[in-house]
Amino acid sequence: MRPLIAGNWKMNTDLKQGVDLVLALRDLVKGHDSVDCVIAPPFTAIHHLSHLLAGSGIEMCAQDIFWEKSGAYTGEISGEMLVSAGCRHVIIGHSERRQFFGETDETVNKKVLAALRHGLKPIMCVGESLDEREANKTIQTVCSQVKKGLAGLSGTALRDIAVAYEPIWAIGTGRTATPQQAEEVHNSIRGLLYELFDGATVKETRIIYGGSVKGDNIDVLMAQPNIDGALVGGASLKADEFARIVKFQPV
Ligand code: PEP
Repeated sequence: MRPLIAGNWKMNTDLKQGVDLVLALRDLVKGHDSVDCVIAPPFTAIHHLSHLLAGSGIEMCAQDIFWEKSGAYTGEISGEMLVSAGCRHVIIGHSERRQFFGETDETVNKKVLAALRHGLKPIMCVGESLDEREANKTIQTVCSQVKKGLAGLSGTALRDIAVAYEPIWAIGTGRTATPQQAEEVHNSIRGLLYELFDGATVKETRIIYGGSVKGDNIDVLMAQPNIDGALVGGASLKADEFARIVKFQPV
C-alpha cells in the first residue's frame, strides 16, 4: 500500500513562514514519489501555498471542513471552498477539535460524508485519552469512534479514507506509543473495518499513526504491518525533519 505522510501545521505559521516552509520542503522531497506527502497549513495560507505546490507531488490538505454547502454559518468553510482553494484532503475530528471545539462522533461523521461528496479525501482522527488507556478501554473507545465516524459510508468510498490513530496522550507530548501499542490498535481498527466493509477495499485503506512522530521514530513505526503512514504535528513545522519522515526506511 502506498504510504501517506501528512503534516498538520495546526495554528502555526503566518503567510511568509508558510511560504518558506513549503519552498524548503519542496526541494527536500523532490523526486521522492513513493509516498503520498500532504501538508495541512492554516486556512489563510491554503490558496497561496497550493500554487507553490504545483508540480511538486505534495498535496494540499485542510485542517477542518463544515458539512453545509454555503449560507449563514459565520466562520465556517465548506468543501466547495476547500476544493476551489486547492485542497485534495481534509483532516477531520482531530482530538484538539474534539477537546476544544465540541466535535463529536456525529459531527465527525457529517464532515466525513460532506468531504466525500466534494471529492476530498478525509483523514479521520480517532484516539483514546490516558484515562481510557489506563482503564483498558483503548480498543473499545477507538473502535466506537471509527464505527460512528464512518456510519453510512458506502464500501467503495472507504478507499478514499485514511483513519489516523492518534492516542491523545501522545500528541505534542514527546511520548510516542510504542510500535507494538500502535500496531495493536491499528490491527483492531483493520479488523473492525473488515467486519463493516468489503475486504478488498479494507486492504487498501490506510491506517496512519499520529502522536509525537519524529525523524528518529518513524522507521520503527513504519515497519509495523498495519501502520500505513503518519499524521505529524510539531515535526511537520521543520522542513528537514518532516522530509526525513517522508523518506522513512522501515527497520
Ligand atoms: C497531531 O497534531 O496530529 C500530532 C500528532 O501532533 P504531534 O506530532 O506534535 O504529536
